[in-house]
Amino acid sequence: MTASIIDGKAFAEKVRAGVAADVSALKAKHGVTPGLAVVIVGEDPASQVYVKNKVKQTADTGMNSFHFELPADTSEADLLARVEALNADPAVNGILVQLPLPKQIDEAKVIAAIDPAKDVDGFHVVNSGLLATGGRGLVPCTPLGCLLMLQDALGDLSGLKAVVVGRSNIVGKPMAQLLLDANCTVTIAHSRTKDLPGEVKAADIVVAAVGRPEMIKGDWIKPGATVIDVGINRIAAPEKGEGKTRLVGDVAYDEAATVAGRITPVPGGVGPMTIACLLRNTVTATCRQHRLDPKA
Ligand code: NDP
Repeated sequence: MTASIIDGKAFAEKVRAGVAADVSALKAKHGVTPGLAVVIVGEDPASQVYVKNKVKQTADTGMNSFHFELPADTSEADLLARVEALNADPAVNGILVQLPLPKQIDEAKVIAAIDPAKDVDGFHVVNSGLLATGGRGLVPCTPLGCLLMLQDALGDLSGLKAVVVGRSNIVGKPMAQLLLDANCTVTIAHSRTKDLPGEVKAADIVVAAVGRPEMIKGDWIKPGATVIDVGINRIAAPEKGEGKTRLVGDVAYDEAATVAGRITPVPGGVGPMTIACLLRNTVTATCRQHRLDPKA
């Protein structure tokens, strides 16, 4: 068997096209232009690239993009003051503070300071609480992207067995919650799980969010299962030349693709969906703040 590839890049393009259509409807019918503010502190090169992509894609959908680059020695008080100003700015509907933050700043304090209605990353306790209790909050972008891809590939997920490997607040836990809400029977595995291969083997859906290169092997996968690989790991690639590297996921892709029914590649799977969902969350936040429906 060879798995069919879930093309996250193509699907993200579709999601972004939907966002662009909603943005133009909000402008035309209601005179509202959604605005996303991205704040980056310091010069982490990976974050810089990611933020550049976000800013470009935000503008491409017709939204207003506000971009703040603060120096690495910014104090916690100054960042909190920036967040407060964005909370109060009616042109800003979504706020994202790029993590990680420099050591002198308490990330939890900053996340807690963001207005939950503008928290398009979905990390505020109000939003995680709403997710846990079946309420209508803003959902973290990476797990939301995984869910959309699963529903697109499989339709109704009711009754399927899902295993989420990883229990972080930003990926594993919200992913498990979303799958539970979609009526899956969910197992959350982590570093203390006793029989990880056995847990994975029982699952119709495997979501890998571990951060360990190619840890999940092909013979752990149930034949025909759907595999979503969230992991992004850079490893040495001597075959490409000295000092060269390449990106791999948490799943041993070549092996798993001979067993799974469907699988996401790395890169080109979950990654592109994360920014697309951030844009989607910004439209959702805008509509709720203005009590609007772009389709109405
Ligand atoms: P964290 O490091 O916060 O969490 C990793 C989780 O994996 C933990 O719950 C940990 O368990 C578990 N784990 C670690 N080792 C093992 C093991 N040997 N067996 C079973 N479980 C294990 O990572 P994140 O959730 O932030 O990210 C996970 C991966 O996803 C990373 O590669 C990251 O780069 C990628 N990522 C990709 C995104 C995208 O847009 N595609 C967005 C966000 C993340 P325990 O809790 O017991 O320590």
